[in-house]
Amino acid sequence: MRVALVPVYVPRRVWISFLGRTLEKHDRLFCFAPARNRMPFPPDERLAAMVRYSGGCLCGGLRYEATAEPKFAGHCYCADCRKASGSGFIPFMGFSRGAVTFSGRILQHRSKAASGADAVRNSCAICGGLVFGGEIEAAETFNIYAGSLDEPLAFRPTIAIFARQRPPWALIPPGLKIYADMPP
Ligand SMILES: [Zn+2]
Ligand SMILES: [Zn+2]
Repeated sequence: MRVALVPVYVPRRVWISFLGRTLEKHDRLFCFAPARNRMPFPPDERLAAMVRYSGGCLCGGLRYEATAEPKFAGHCYCADCRKASGSGFIPFMGFSRGAVTFSGRILQHRSKAASGADAVRNSCAICGGLVFGGEIEAAETFNIYAGSLDEPLAFRPTIAIFARQRPPWALIPPGLKIYADMPP
């Protein structure tokens, strides 16, 4: 589907190497974002709130930035995530609607979730890279797929869900709290 996009400014953080020291600089990035998810032009103090996570698809056509910590983070071993990604599991980070901004053209796919509700997954309309879950117009939480992070070390999973559907070759890293299905 084609999502209505409007021009927005989003805060971002850039790092500059200078005489062996790394300086942090606040900057604004002009881009297009879905109308319902726009951020106002940020005053300077808003820039201090800062982008904590950024990422996107393989070609860079679909991008996101998040200004808060995720509400939860883990691995999903459900069969739908396996099929959608062509991999053993999907690493996800759940962000509140107000904490994340998207830009770019989205290819949306809808399927039935275990709960009976619709599960919406979003890929880049150009390269097909799978980037996040949640209906852009309606979701209260977006599940960013952590493989799309610019900085992969920023992902710190704590839970493994739908472990009942896990094939033996899709390993669960030590230290995660394991749920057979959805956490209660
Ligand atoms: Zn792309
Ligand atoms: Zn899943």
